[in-house]
Amino acid sequence: MHQREERGGEFMVSNLLGVSRLIFKWIPPPPDGKAFLVGGLVRDFLLSGYGPPDLRDVDICLSGDVLKWSERISKNLSCEVIFEPRFNTARFWVKHGRDIHVDIAMARTEVYESPGALPIVTPATLLEDLGRRDFSINAMAWPLEEVGDCQDRLIDPFGGREDIHSGVLRVLHRNSFRDDPTRMFRGFRLLSRFSFKWEEGTQSLLSEGVSQKSVLTISGTRIRKEFVRIFLEKEPVDVLKRIYLSGLMWSLFPKAIWSQTLEGSLLEVVWLVKMIFGGSVSSLLPLKWSLLREWCHGETFFYLPILKELPSEDLESGIRFFGLEGKVGSILKDVISEPSVSSGKEMNPGKFLRVISQHVVETGSRYGWLMPQSRMDDRKNLLSRLSSFSENILKSSFISGEDLLRMGIPGGKRVGEMLKSVDERVREGKITSREEALQWVRSEMLRT
Ligand code: ATP
Repeated sequence: MHQREERGGEFMVSNLLGVSRLIFKWIPPPPDGKAFLVGGLVRDFLLSGYGPPDLRDVDICLSGDVLKWSERISKNLSCEVIFEPRFNTARFWVKHGRDIHVDIAMARTEVYESPGALPIVTPATLLEDLGRRDFSINAMAWPLEEVGDCQDRLIDPFGGREDIHSGVLRVLHRNSFRDDPTRMFRGFRLLSRFSFKWEEGTQSLLSEGVSQKSVLTISGTRIRKEFVRIFLEKEPVDVLKRIYLSGLMWSLFPKAIWSQTLEGSLLEVVWLVKMIFGGSVSSLLPLKWSLLREWCHGETFFYLPILKELPSEDLESGIRFFGLEGKVGSILKDVISEPSVSSGKEMNPGKFLRVISQHVVETGSRYGWLMPQSRMDDRKNLLSRLSSFSENILKSSFISGEDLLRMGIPGGKRVGEMLKSVDERVREGKITSREEALQWVRSEMLRT
């Protein structure tokens, strides 16, 4: 580990410099204030040791005016920069081999008025911004400056580099899990991904959080977001296993225990989702990410075995806990309580989900929960049905209602009509990418 860190140190400095230069090629410098690379990317440069980390998501923290900078970026790159005034954030995509997602956020502090509540956000210094973060390894920054030398400029006020060196995950203060219990789930995700351990003090704070059932203070929507991110990990079953074995699930649902059946079903789900969508689940990012979130194909698969293992009296509260009320929840309930088959010809997301779920469950109930390895023919059959469904559905996912509202189309009927027209063109093969879909909407707006 030590050797990796030494080589990694050198590597990190030259590569972070390389990345900052690359970023300056894409983005003009901010008109005021200073910009810093923060979060996962800085961490991954330190962790990567010998090779460059995956440059897919770039988080930038700005001590300055985000709106002014985003206007300048939009003009220079002639690209769509989405500014979010409520949070003072901006995001956009740049092409560098593939699409890289850049997020800019104003440096801020967060004050939690009550445990689990959303924080009150105020502008702050970079150090304060780093101090509101989840773990020391995620609380480092690298200034984005035009510099010629190879100096190590890492800003690391909480000892993140040392914690990476020791392979531990450490919260920044005693109230961290109480303020925001989603950090427990985030922590298990990172532990599994990097094969890290909890730092001793953090481990006892986690045990306190588990016994106080602090996750009950967060909304279902936030829990669900964290679970989607778990499902997108390379080894989602390992993350879930760690969560169950820590007692976190058990403290909420006393009968939710980790069993071989549950593990087997979840592994089947991972396999199924990989087969349907191709490659790893995370290959769905970034274009299909919104699809996954909105229509939840993969997500729904994962919840099936988790919820099915709960006793029937816990099903409702399970659905509420995961924030699955509404359409997805009622489908899950239907599917779990009364598996039945229907054949879906009509391609809309709800129908798609229902058919897939019902089909999986129906096949599962005939052959034991999901299919055992031995029924390869049935698997193949199911897969070809699933992949043709998903192929059609994936094609029609380039833009959402949110995109249209952001582009200035008034809400209501017009949004639905526009989405329908985009879908029709996608099906006819006239629109084949998000850019084309956005372009078509723009031309329609000018025309009408
Ligand atoms: P990943 O590799 O999983 O994407 P990431 O660290 O980039 O990891 P994000 O969720 O994109 O994860 O968050 C970016 C940064 O924002 C994190 O590195 C962390 O510093 C901070 N952060 C995110 N969620 C929280 C949270 N709940 N509490 C405190 N800080 C958070």
